[in-house]
Amino acid sequence: MIKNISVLGSTGSIGTQTLDVARNLGLQVNALSAHSSIELLEEQIREFKPRLAVVFEEAKAKELRLSIADTSTKVLSGMDGLLELSGDDSDLMVNAIVGMVGLAPTLEAINSGKDIAFANKETLVAGGELVMNAVKEHGVKLLPVDSEHSAIFQCLQAAPPSKVIKKILLTASGGPFFGKTADQLKDVTVEQALAHPNWSMGAKITIDSATMMNKGLEIIEAAWLFDTDPDDIEVVVHRESIIHSMIEFTDNSVLAQLGMPDMRIPIQYAITYPERYPSPVAELDWTKLSRMTFYSADDTTFKCLAACKKAMKKGGLYPAVANGANEVANRLFRDRKISFLDIGELVTSAVDNIDVTSAACLDDVLRADKAAREYVYSQI
Ligand code: NDP
Ligand code: MG
Repeated sequence: MIKNISVLGSTGSIGTQTLDVARNLGLQVNALSAHSSIELLEEQIREFKPRLAVVFEEAKAKELRLSIADTSTKVLSGMDGLLELSGDDSDLMVNAIVGMVGLAPTLEAINSGKDIAFANKETLVAGGELVMNAVKEHGVKLLPVDSEHSAIFQCLQAAPPSKVIKKILLTASGGPFFGKTADQLKDVTVEQALAHPNWSMGAKITIDSATMMNKGLEIIEAAWLFDTDPDDIEVVVHRESIIHSMIEFTDNSVLAQLGMPDMRIPIQYAITYPERYPSPVAELDWTKLSRMTFYSADDTTFKCLAACKKAMKKGGLYPAVANGANEVANRLFRDRKISFLDIGELVTSAVDNIDVTSAACLDDVLRADKAAREYVYSQI
């Protein structure tokens, strides 16, 4: 098993759960990072004694340098800091940052020959081709942390190497607004959208779950991770979030992975793969699982889902456009500048109206992302 890790985005929901897993497994933590949450980062530094801590915001990095002057942890800032963290000599990097700001660090980690436990889906949506080409070139592993992708990956361990998968059944909780009409969603508040029925997560992904953008991003993520045609990925709404996804073979046999909705299972599996170790996550209590329900997804009301499918069909940099538009629209909704339904309208309109080609390099992805962000700001 690997002995040490570095954690990009250690102060977030996935980051703190990763440190819980590291604590339970007794792993050495070489590096930690935050955007600006320096109080929590300081606690983490005092507990895990990493060599390096990165704070994206330089002013906050300065503050942290002063408050941990009694430790031997070096503090860096900005993208340079994230790149130094990603290029270090850890056995594995957990990428738990939110947003496509994680793309350059991901490429740096791959170039340094490191395996990655990967939660940062926006990066794969925006730069899927670049990332997967780099993975092949350097022979590293991109181990999925997202619960659905971990489930598919776990099911695939039982599949022969030949192409016998007919389809991927990607489960979705449906979020807090499942079954609602567009008319009923006109005036929903940020608080209502942040009340996810099954999962406790960071704010951005919680809103993405309410709009179903999250499932759209996950279709694209699965298409890259498992080299699958998006048409062979079917979204199944499963309200209880007990089945985390399934694969269907050519003989119509279906394999599923089940467990409590607790991210520490997929995080730990990505870190310990192919081994399994005891975890603090509760067992499934079968006597309490009175029923499991399944429905089809409504991509007419939840426009983000349709926009992501369209972006993937258009190919090239269109997924980067959908992602960039959503990162801005999601933030504007949380800042109460636009309505809930505006998010779907803006992402759809960006995919329909921005002209982009394919990605030859990182700068191409960054340009498409910037165009999408500017487009959204110009529309409000
Ligand atoms: P959070 O918002 O809780 O945490 C994000 C982390 O990234 C924090 O450490 C944050 O620092 C840091 N960060 C944010 N913006 C920047 C930036 N511009 N530069 C550098 N660091 C930054 O997110 P989650 O943990 O919920 O999600 C992380 C990723 O995992 C996302 O891609 C999400 O889609 C994916 N994911 C999350 C799941 C979950 O259960 N939470 C489930 C499946 C996937 P700070 O604390 O200082 O803001
Ligand atoms: Mg998921």
